[in-house]
Amino acid sequence: MRCLIVSDIHGNLAALDAVLADVNLDTVDRIWCLGDVVGYGPCPEECISRVLEFSDYLCVAGNHDWAAINRISIAEFNPSAQVACRWTTEQLATDGKEYLASLPTRIMEDNCTLVHGSPREPIWEYIIYPSTAELNFQFFDTQLCFVGHTHAPAIFREETATHKFEISIPIPDHPIPIDDERLIINPGSVGQPRDGDPNAAYMVFEPEARTLEYHRVPYDIASTQQLMMERGLPESLISRLSFGW
Ligand code: ZN
Repeated sequence: MRCLIVSDIHGNLAALDAVLADVNLDTVDRIWCLGDVVGYGPCPEECISRVLEFSDYLCVAGNHDWAAINRISIAEFNPSAQVACRWTTEQLATDGKEYLASLPTRIMEDNCTLVHGSPREPIWEYIIYPSTAELNFQFFDTQLCFVGHTHAPAIFREETATHKFEISIPIPDHPIPIDDERLIINPGSVGQPRDGDPNAAYMVFEPEARTLEYHRVPYDIASTQQLMMERGLPESLISRLSFGW
């Protein structure tokens, strides 16, 4: 079984399509999405439609998914995110809103837990530091937990010898073996990377082979930026795509 893992698509259809083209869908059996399909980007409805083309597709809710359907307040969003969120809400058709409303906050599948932010607080908490990861290991029972939300790829593990919690940043195109350790894994963001690399990020997980692949793929950033300009989205959200920040 090969499972494509994506997160934080954020309405960036060009980035999503680049990932789907790069992964060779003929070899993929299922897709797991870690939330924030919409928000920031110019194509929220199109991104929802695209992911729903896949029959074996699982997705959890992210903070932007819930904000777009007014399930959470956007008071804590920065001003640009608030503008983009209001715009996204206006674009969504009833079907799209119902789809976002139907997303669970946590999914357990094949000894993996899927959440957007963290297993302790799936909608809001960011796992950036090993200290936050350490606290979160007690909030899931599976071996692996996949998270998104930070838009930065990372793997958190407990070192068996020292019991210290450490972070490693995966290297693109280098398979990551998985042994018996418990891990919290962030595949990075498809539609708005924030780790200094503007290319779309994704992972492929093979439970039987016990491997994880991590990839970055270039996409037509200018076309997404052009659409964002035409649709009146904030300049800061447009320019950050060039820098992956
Ligand atoms: Zn996000």
